[in-house]
Amino acid sequence: MANAAFDDRDGTIWFDGKFLDWRDAKVHVLTHAMHYGSSVFEGERAYGGTIFKSREHSERLRASARLLDFEVPYTVEQIDAAKAEVVRRNGLIDAYVRPVAFRGSEMMGVSAQHNTIHLAIAAWAWPSYFDPEQRKRGIRLDIAEYRRPDPRTAPSTSKAAGLYMICTISKHRAERRGYADALMLDWQGRVAECTGANIFFAKDGVLHTPIADCFLDGLTRRTVIELAKRRGVQVVERRIMPEELGGFSECFITGSAAEVTPVGEIAEHRFTPGALTQTLSDDYVAETQGKAIAA
Ligand code: PMP
Repeated sequence: MANAAFDDRDGTIWFDGKFLDWRDAKVHVLTHAMHYGSSVFEGERAYGGTIFKSREHSERLRASARLLDFEVPYTVEQIDAAKAEVVRRNGLIDAYVRPVAFRGSEMMGVSAQHNTIHLAIAAWAWPSYFDPEQRKRGIRLDIAEYRRPDPRTAPSTSKAAGLYMICTISKHRAERRGYADALMLDWQGRVAECTGANIFFAKDGVLHTPIADCFLDGLTRRTVIELAKRRGVQVVERRIMPEELGGFSECFITGSAAEVTPVGEIAEHRFTPGALTQTLSDDYVAETQGKAIAA
């Protein structure tokens, strides 16, 4: 069943308050979200049957929707309860969880003042975002042609479906060129993030990561910053220029799906996954399992 298309699987999907058979969780072709990108989503993982940072993800989903000028018609508590029940009903222990909120079909034009807002939640087993062999050596990143948009051009801190258009194009181009993913610069040409994960660099035991003001300030990013600080590792959030890449010894990316993934190459620059990456990767796993190291 592993390679079955996502609309043709066994299981249960929560859709507008009801549990539907997986194959029945459908939308009409005249759905505003599909034509105008009026959709926001989350990507979360459950570990040992419990969703890591569930509440923060539900809050972010609602915040993303507000940035697109709509309200998710469920409270954080209702969304949390529905997600937990989706994981349980599908018999999942370690799982990826995907809530998606979107505008429906009442109006079909740019204006969508009266469209119903829908929410669906699915979950499935998704062991590793990158190939486990590539992951061990450190994944290889290309540099994307597209840049993260200026916050005056798009609601760039929202986890909005429309913002992934350039991510898919960039990831496809990277894959065609033999890379696992692409590093995206921001609108000013500074290092920003990958197509679905944030990025960190290490030099002389200090972590450096771009300031998340025109891209998603990932929950994993924030968790890793906290874990590093607990270890007494200094974390510097700053502007990082692509010319500086050669000066870092380690690099890794972070995301709910990617977790902590070592990077071995960005274009012509080489990194060696080292002790700091390993420690933070292990600490992240421990944190998700509820076995946090002492502060
Ligand atoms: N940036 C982008 C573009 C992403 O898609 C993701 C994954 N949601 C992240 C960063 C990391 O966010 P998080 O750690 O909250 O999953």
